[in-house]
Amino acid sequence: MQNTDWGKLPFGYFKTEYNVRCYYRDGQWGEIEVSSSETINIHMAATCLHYGQEAFEGMKAYRGKDGKVRLFRWEENAKRMQRSADGIMMARVPEELFHEMVVKAVRLNEKFVPPHGHGASLYIRPLLIGTGVQVGVSPAKEYMFMVFVGPVGPYFKEGFNPVRIQIVRDFDRAAPQGTGHIKVGGNYAGSLYASERAKREGFPAVLFLEAKEKKYIDEAGPANFFAIKGNKYITPKSDSILPSITNMSLMQIAQDMGMEVERRPVAVEELSGFEEVGACGTAAIISPICSLVDRETGQTYEYCKDGKAGPVSTRLFKKLQGIQYGDEPDTHNWVTIL
Ligand SMILES: *Cc1c(COP(=O)(O)O)cnc(C)c1O
Repeated sequence: MQNTDWGKLPFGYFKTEYNVRCYYRDGQWGEIEVSSSETINIHMAATCLHYGQEAFEGMKAYRGKDGKVRLFRWEENAKRMQRSADGIMMARVPEELFHEMVVKAVRLNEKFVPPHGHGASLYIRPLLIGTGVQVGVSPAKEYMFMVFVGPVGPYFKEGFNPVRIQIVRDFDRAAPQGTGHIKVGGNYAGSLYASERAKREGFPAVLFLEAKEKKYIDEAGPANFFAIKGNKYITPKSDSILPSITNMSLMQIAQDMGMEVERRPVAVEELSGFEEVGACGTAAIISPICSLVDRETGQTYEYCKDGKAGPVSTRLFKKLQGIQYGDEPDTHNWVTIL
């Protein structure tokens, strides 16, 4: 890894040395297994392949100036994966098992954790799948939980760059009483058509509206949406949004900075009154949004001056990034040093 240009690494798959796996059989989780194979061997009638019994998480390990490796709010990822498991009738991964396997996957691949100072990190992908055989529609009796990792570069290679987003009305990411609030693969399959079409039309991401009334904002693709107006941090509340840990943390930081936080339905008409808007999630922390274009009406909302992110988004981004890398005090006990 000596000659790696950490600042230029893409956000993508990167082969490392080990991954860890654990199998749920006969009503219980077995021993943790370490593997150096990149493939898994599963039955062709496994429920994950037919009926979408699959949930995942996305988190990162960060190396501080002190050389130590840090995890950020891993308990929240563990709890969210349990909610995902409950939502699609899979076996829950106990919090301790989740922790042990994440730590093991990071430690075994420690040489792949990028050095401090490039904005790079080790991406961690926990994955829970139904492996039991079923042809009739019902939950599997057997599951596999695995964790693999890989180094990723900073999301924005040339600094913190605002993006263009397309508002779509002819596709929904999730139904109001569906699975939008849990991190399951099926939600992503359902969002691919709209997001690939948006890319062809020149937009790196889409903004989905709440499916029932099409009046309120739901999510910005695989990220939560937030807006800044005066001294307020505003973020949508909806049953079909995936509760982002990054958003939860930004709400706390905004409050710590003396801002007022509003989590409530956010109507599309409000877009013209916001000073800054952005998308947030583990991959980028914040993707500042420069413009939003409604695909149907052509209406455009503009936010950035000279192609730059707004001052509040920038401050929030720097603060959260600083906490994750250990450069800022961890006043809420969010960081676990390995
Ligand atoms: C994972 C995810 C997010 C971001 O969540 P973080 O915990 O902040 O990484 C937002 N929306 C969707 C749909 C997601 O799957």
